[in-house]
Amino acid sequence: MTETLNADPAELAKFSDLAHRWWDPESEFRPLHQINPLRLGWIEQHCPLAGLRVLDVGCGGGILSDAMARKGAQVLGIDLATKPLKVAQLHALEAGTQGVTYREVSVEALAAEQSGSFDAVTCMEMLEHVPDPASVVRACAALVKPGGQVFFSTLNRNPKSFLFAVVGAEYVLNLLPRGTHEYAKFIRPSELSLHCRAAGLELREIRGMQYNPLTRRYWLDGDASVNYLVATSRPAGGA
Ligand code: SAH
Repeated sequence: MTETLNADPAELAKFSDLAHRWWDPESEFRPLHQINPLRLGWIEQHCPLAGLRVLDVGCGGGILSDAMARKGAQVLGIDLATKPLKVAQLHALEAGTQGVTYREVSVEALAAEQSGSFDAVTCMEMLEHVPDPASVVRACAALVKPGGQVFFSTLNRNPKSFLFAVVGAEYVLNLLPRGTHEYAKFIRPSELSLHCRAAGLELREIRGMQYNPLTRRYWLDGDASVNYLVATSRPAGGA
């Protein structure tokens, strides 16, 4: 096949370059470590993970994949950056995590291979790094079983999110390396909702994620103006 890959090589290189620090909770990946219990708890409110077959799209070093496997899910983590996947695999080995495997494959290619085979699909903090996010949403929708759930998280696009997620996080607080996020690729909840509906996914919930730099704490609430999570489901018996 001569289809072009829906990926930005510069984005993948960025994550590969930092991969060795992925599991250091004080590294550039500190925010992912800190938000992980929150998003894991939120996912479990929608679907208890024990015994489920779960796909984690854009899994990186496996912070969420590993945690979901520890909740008893059978997890496949996929990414297109080689080094983070190796780090994820190594971590699972060292930590003795059962039920998680990793594979370098695009979500679109996996959708052509294993459509309708996962109880749940997660795709967190990834869509804002991809040239064609709608294609990723479509592939996620194809991969989940009818009646299954698909979860996304990304960054909203507005002056506040520019100020908080780019200026604040990368330049003032140094939470993330400069250049981590490109404002033009941020996705409004209305845009993501459209992509979901076009892919046949029903919206169940949108939650905002907040950060207080003084207490260094994160929490979820109804304010989706910067970072937000979306829960969707594929109708049972639907198209
Ligand atoms: N989802 C993980 C990692 C987020 S970092 C978590 O939330 O903990 C973003 C990840 O998206 C990186 O691992 C990067 O390699 C991956 N990524 C970027 N573009 C991608 C693409 N086109 N296909 C698959 N993964 C991609």
